[in-house]
Formats: sequence, C-alpha cells, structure tokens
Amino acid sequence: MRSSFSSWDNLGVKTAAPSELFRKLPSVDDVMHLPAVRALAASYGHDSVVDAARLVLARLREEIASGLLDDDALALALSGLVGGVENQLRQALSYSLRPVINATGVILHTNLGRAPLAEAAIEHIRETAASYSNLEFDLAAGTRGKRDVHVDRLFQRLLDEEVNGRGVTSAEARRQKPPSVSTIVVNNNAAAVLLALNTIAEGGEVIVSRGELVEIGGSFRIPDVMAKSGAILREVGTTNRTRTSDYEGAITERTRLLLRVHRSNFEITGFTGQASTGELVALARRRGIPLMEDLGSGALLDLRSIGIGGEPGVLDSLRSSVDIVTYSGDKLLGGPQAGLISGSAELIARMRSNSLFRALRVDKLIYAALEATLLAYARRDHDAIPTLRMMRLSKEAIGERAEALAAQVNAPKVKLEVIDGESILGGGAAPSSVLPTRLLALTCEGLRADELAARLRGSEPPIIARVDEGRVLLDLRTVSSGQDAAVVAALSRIVA
Ligand SMILES: *Cc1c(COP(=O)(O)O)cnc(C)c1O
Repeated sequence: MRSSFSSWDNLGVKTAAPSELFRKLPSVDDVMHLPAVRALAASYGHDSVVDAARLVLARLREEIASGLLDDDALALALSGLVGGVENQLRQALSYSLRPVINATGVILHTNLGRAPLAEAAIEHIRETAASYSNLEFDLAAGTRGKRDVHVDRLFQRLLDEEVNGRGVTSAEARRQKPPSVSTIVVNNNAAAVLLALNTIAEGGEVIVSRGELVEIGGSFRIPDVMAKSGAILREVGTTNRTRTSDYEGAITERTRLLLRVHRSNFEITGFTGQASTGELVALARRRGIPLMEDLGSGALLDLRSIGIGGEPGVLDSLRSSVDIVTYSGDKLLGGPQAGLISGSAELIARMRSNSLFRALRVDKLIYAALEATLLAYARRDHDAIPTLRMMRLSKEAIGERAEALAAQVNAPKVKLEVIDGESILGGGAAPSSVLPTRLLALTCEGLRADELAARLRGSEPPIIARVDEGRVLLDLRTVSSGQDAAVVAALSRIVA
C-alpha cells in the first residue's frame, strides 16, 4: 500500500492537520464490522483478521504522522482498506520459505539452500514423517535400538569396505573382522568439528597450520570453534608455507590432535607449501597422536572422473589413514544438511558417548534423507542425486536447452543470446574448479540489468540470476529441465 501513497507526497498538496486526519481513521472494531471484513474473518479466522487490520491501520497512522497523507489521499486509502487488509492477510498466512529457481549456475549455493534432494530422499522423508518408524527400535529383538544403525550399514559399505578392500560383505565376515571405519551423523559440519575437537582434545592442544585458520561463511571460524570445544589452538607455520617439521616442533605432552582444514573457499598461490597428507599421517603415527581432516565438502564420488580436481575425497583421506574426517551432508555429497564424522572406530565410539553428541544429534527426517542418498551411491546411481547430475551435465546439453528456451520467449524488447561461461561448484568446494557451460545472456530495452534481475526475483516462483557487465545471465545447469517452462513464462511476462 505504501507505494500507492508515496506518489502523493511530492505533489505539494497542502496537508490537513494530522489530528483531523487521525480522527477520520476507523477503529479496528469499525473495520471488523464491515461486511467484507466479516467475510474475511469467516475464512481466515477472526484473530488473523484483527492482526491484519491493526497493521494496516498502524501503517496509515504512521503515514499521517509523517505528513505523507492529505485528505484526498487518506480517502483513497480508506476506500482500499478492505483490499489492504486482505493483502496483509495473504502475506501473513503464506509461507516465507519458498522454492526458487536457481539460475546462478552455482550448484551448492548456501543462500539458496545448498543441495536439492534426490526424489528417493524426498519420498523416504515423506513416508518416515507421516508415520511412526523404527527409528530407535530393533524390530527383530523387539527392544530399544539405535538411530544410527540405519545409515551405519551404508557408510560401512561405502567407506569401510572400500578402504579395507572389497569382499568383506557377509555378516559372518563382519563378525570376524569388525569395521575399522565408523561414521556418526550430527547437525552440520560445524557441529561435527566441534564434537570431534571436544571429544579428542578438550583441555589439550590442537596443532593447525596458520594457512588453514579459515572462516567459512556464516561465522564458522576455526579458532572460535576450537575455543568453544575447550581445546587450545596451537598455530604453526606461516600463512603461505607450513612444513611437517613445523607440526613436529610444536608437539608437546599436551598435544592431543593434528588438524588439517580444507581451504574450502579460497586458494593460496605463489610461494606456497604445505605438508602432504602422507607426511602428516607418518608423523601422527610416529608420535601416537591422531590426525583429523576437516574436509568441508567431502565428496563420496571421485570427482576427477568428471574433470574436477583438487577436491579431496572422503575415501582418499581414509585410504591415506587419516584418523578422522569431517564433512557436510549437503555439499558435494548431495544429501540433507548434516555433519558426518568418519574414521577410527575407537575415536568415533568416544564421540558417540560424549553428551554433546546427544545435543547435536539429527532427527528422523535427516536420517531418512541421508539413507536414501547413500543408497543411491551404493547402487552407483549417481544421476539420481541432483547435485551430481548437475555437475555431470555437458556444456553442449546445457547449450541446446538454452537455445530451445530462447526460441520460446515471446518478448520483442528482450535480446537473448547464448554465450560461453562457467558454472561454479560453490558451498566451499573446489574454489578454482569451474565447469564450462552455456549461458543465456539477457538485456531488455528500457530496463537496467539489475532491474531485470529484480523482476525475475519477483516472479512466481522467484528466479535468481547473475548480473554481469550490464547483462542478466541465466545458467540452466542449476535449473531442472522441468523448470524451463516457468523461466520462459516469467521472461515473457515481466517484459510484456
Ligand atoms: C562448509 C565447511 C564447514 C561448515 O560446514 P556446515 O555443514 O556448513 O556446518 C566447515 N569446514 C569446512 C572446511 C567447510 O568447507
């Protein structure tokens, strides 16, 4: 409503004394007695309508107080009062959290909710949410069970058997050779790091390279998490170079852990050097101190197979005998928000019995989504996982879709071009890895690029695009093909 009044404030109309105008405002009670408002109350509920009417009247009072309304403007506003209440109601009673179309080409966009889930994960959430489940119930024994068994078997298959060689699949074989790699699930990777540090190093020292004291978006800073965990940070090396001997020189009887943190969102180039994982593993073994890697993204699939290098895989670390790795469920893994801790069965058992684990545990819906996602990995059905599917799309396939989409847009004022560009993994993964793509570049007569982008955000569903050098860029890599029609409709509509 505000915008319909603002056009009045610069007309130079002499404004009546505010007190007179205030007197013309109806009371909430008056408004509630209007027949049209009573009808609203019948469908939306009395209290919601009272709230909406209060808000609309309060807004009018504010506008009068700040001299924005004269007699005529107020009369006009009052004639639209019922409409205003209805708009307010609709806004108050609709979802604030809504789906959007991600046309940025950033596959793991933290602001846009990171990984979209696999269909099977959504279905498994639905069935688990709608009914009771055996979350903590052992169906065979009829007794209390553990919630982590549901994903544990899959992690064992995906990690333990991979690390310790295939073939350890039968229950009999598992009894003879207990798994050396276990996994537990907490709320997110920040929680995973906190739990691991607290369990292994509370009251003791943790050695970290100065080049890895990172901040990940959303105020996750290694030194702060370290302080909260009760462990003492022992920085070694320099920003650009840290040697194995730097770690070794800092080891004392108080040292509990060597920590390596993946530089998820930046790179250091030039005169640089860091200890290799192999050297650190050897040092850790020699001194009897565990080595932990915070991988951040932690891919379960070998991304080198799709041309993405430099992103450490969970299996790479475990195969190199790193004791503990922490990684996110909703980054490259492509599952729900979760923090995963994999590694030494003995250390994981200690984390499981830490009371912090109880505070950081995840609910049944996360287990359901994670189980379905891991099952897709176990079946090697990587295309079932949207983030992996997006990463594997070829530039040519994206280009063809972009051309087809451009041909359908019916907006004479819009200039559409399909050009070369790059998609980004995002979510603190492989900062320098980009995937070649084809972009839909838009300009519109009479609209600046940022205005065009704002209109796209205002469409239903909102479309989020990149703006670059006076153009709006849409990358269909992150748009599901089912959404192409919505993009065509939005483009045709907003510039009509
Ligand atoms: C993303 C990231 C985190 C935080 O993970 P969340 O799942 O967002 O809590 C921690 N460490 C690294 C290295 C990361 O990349």
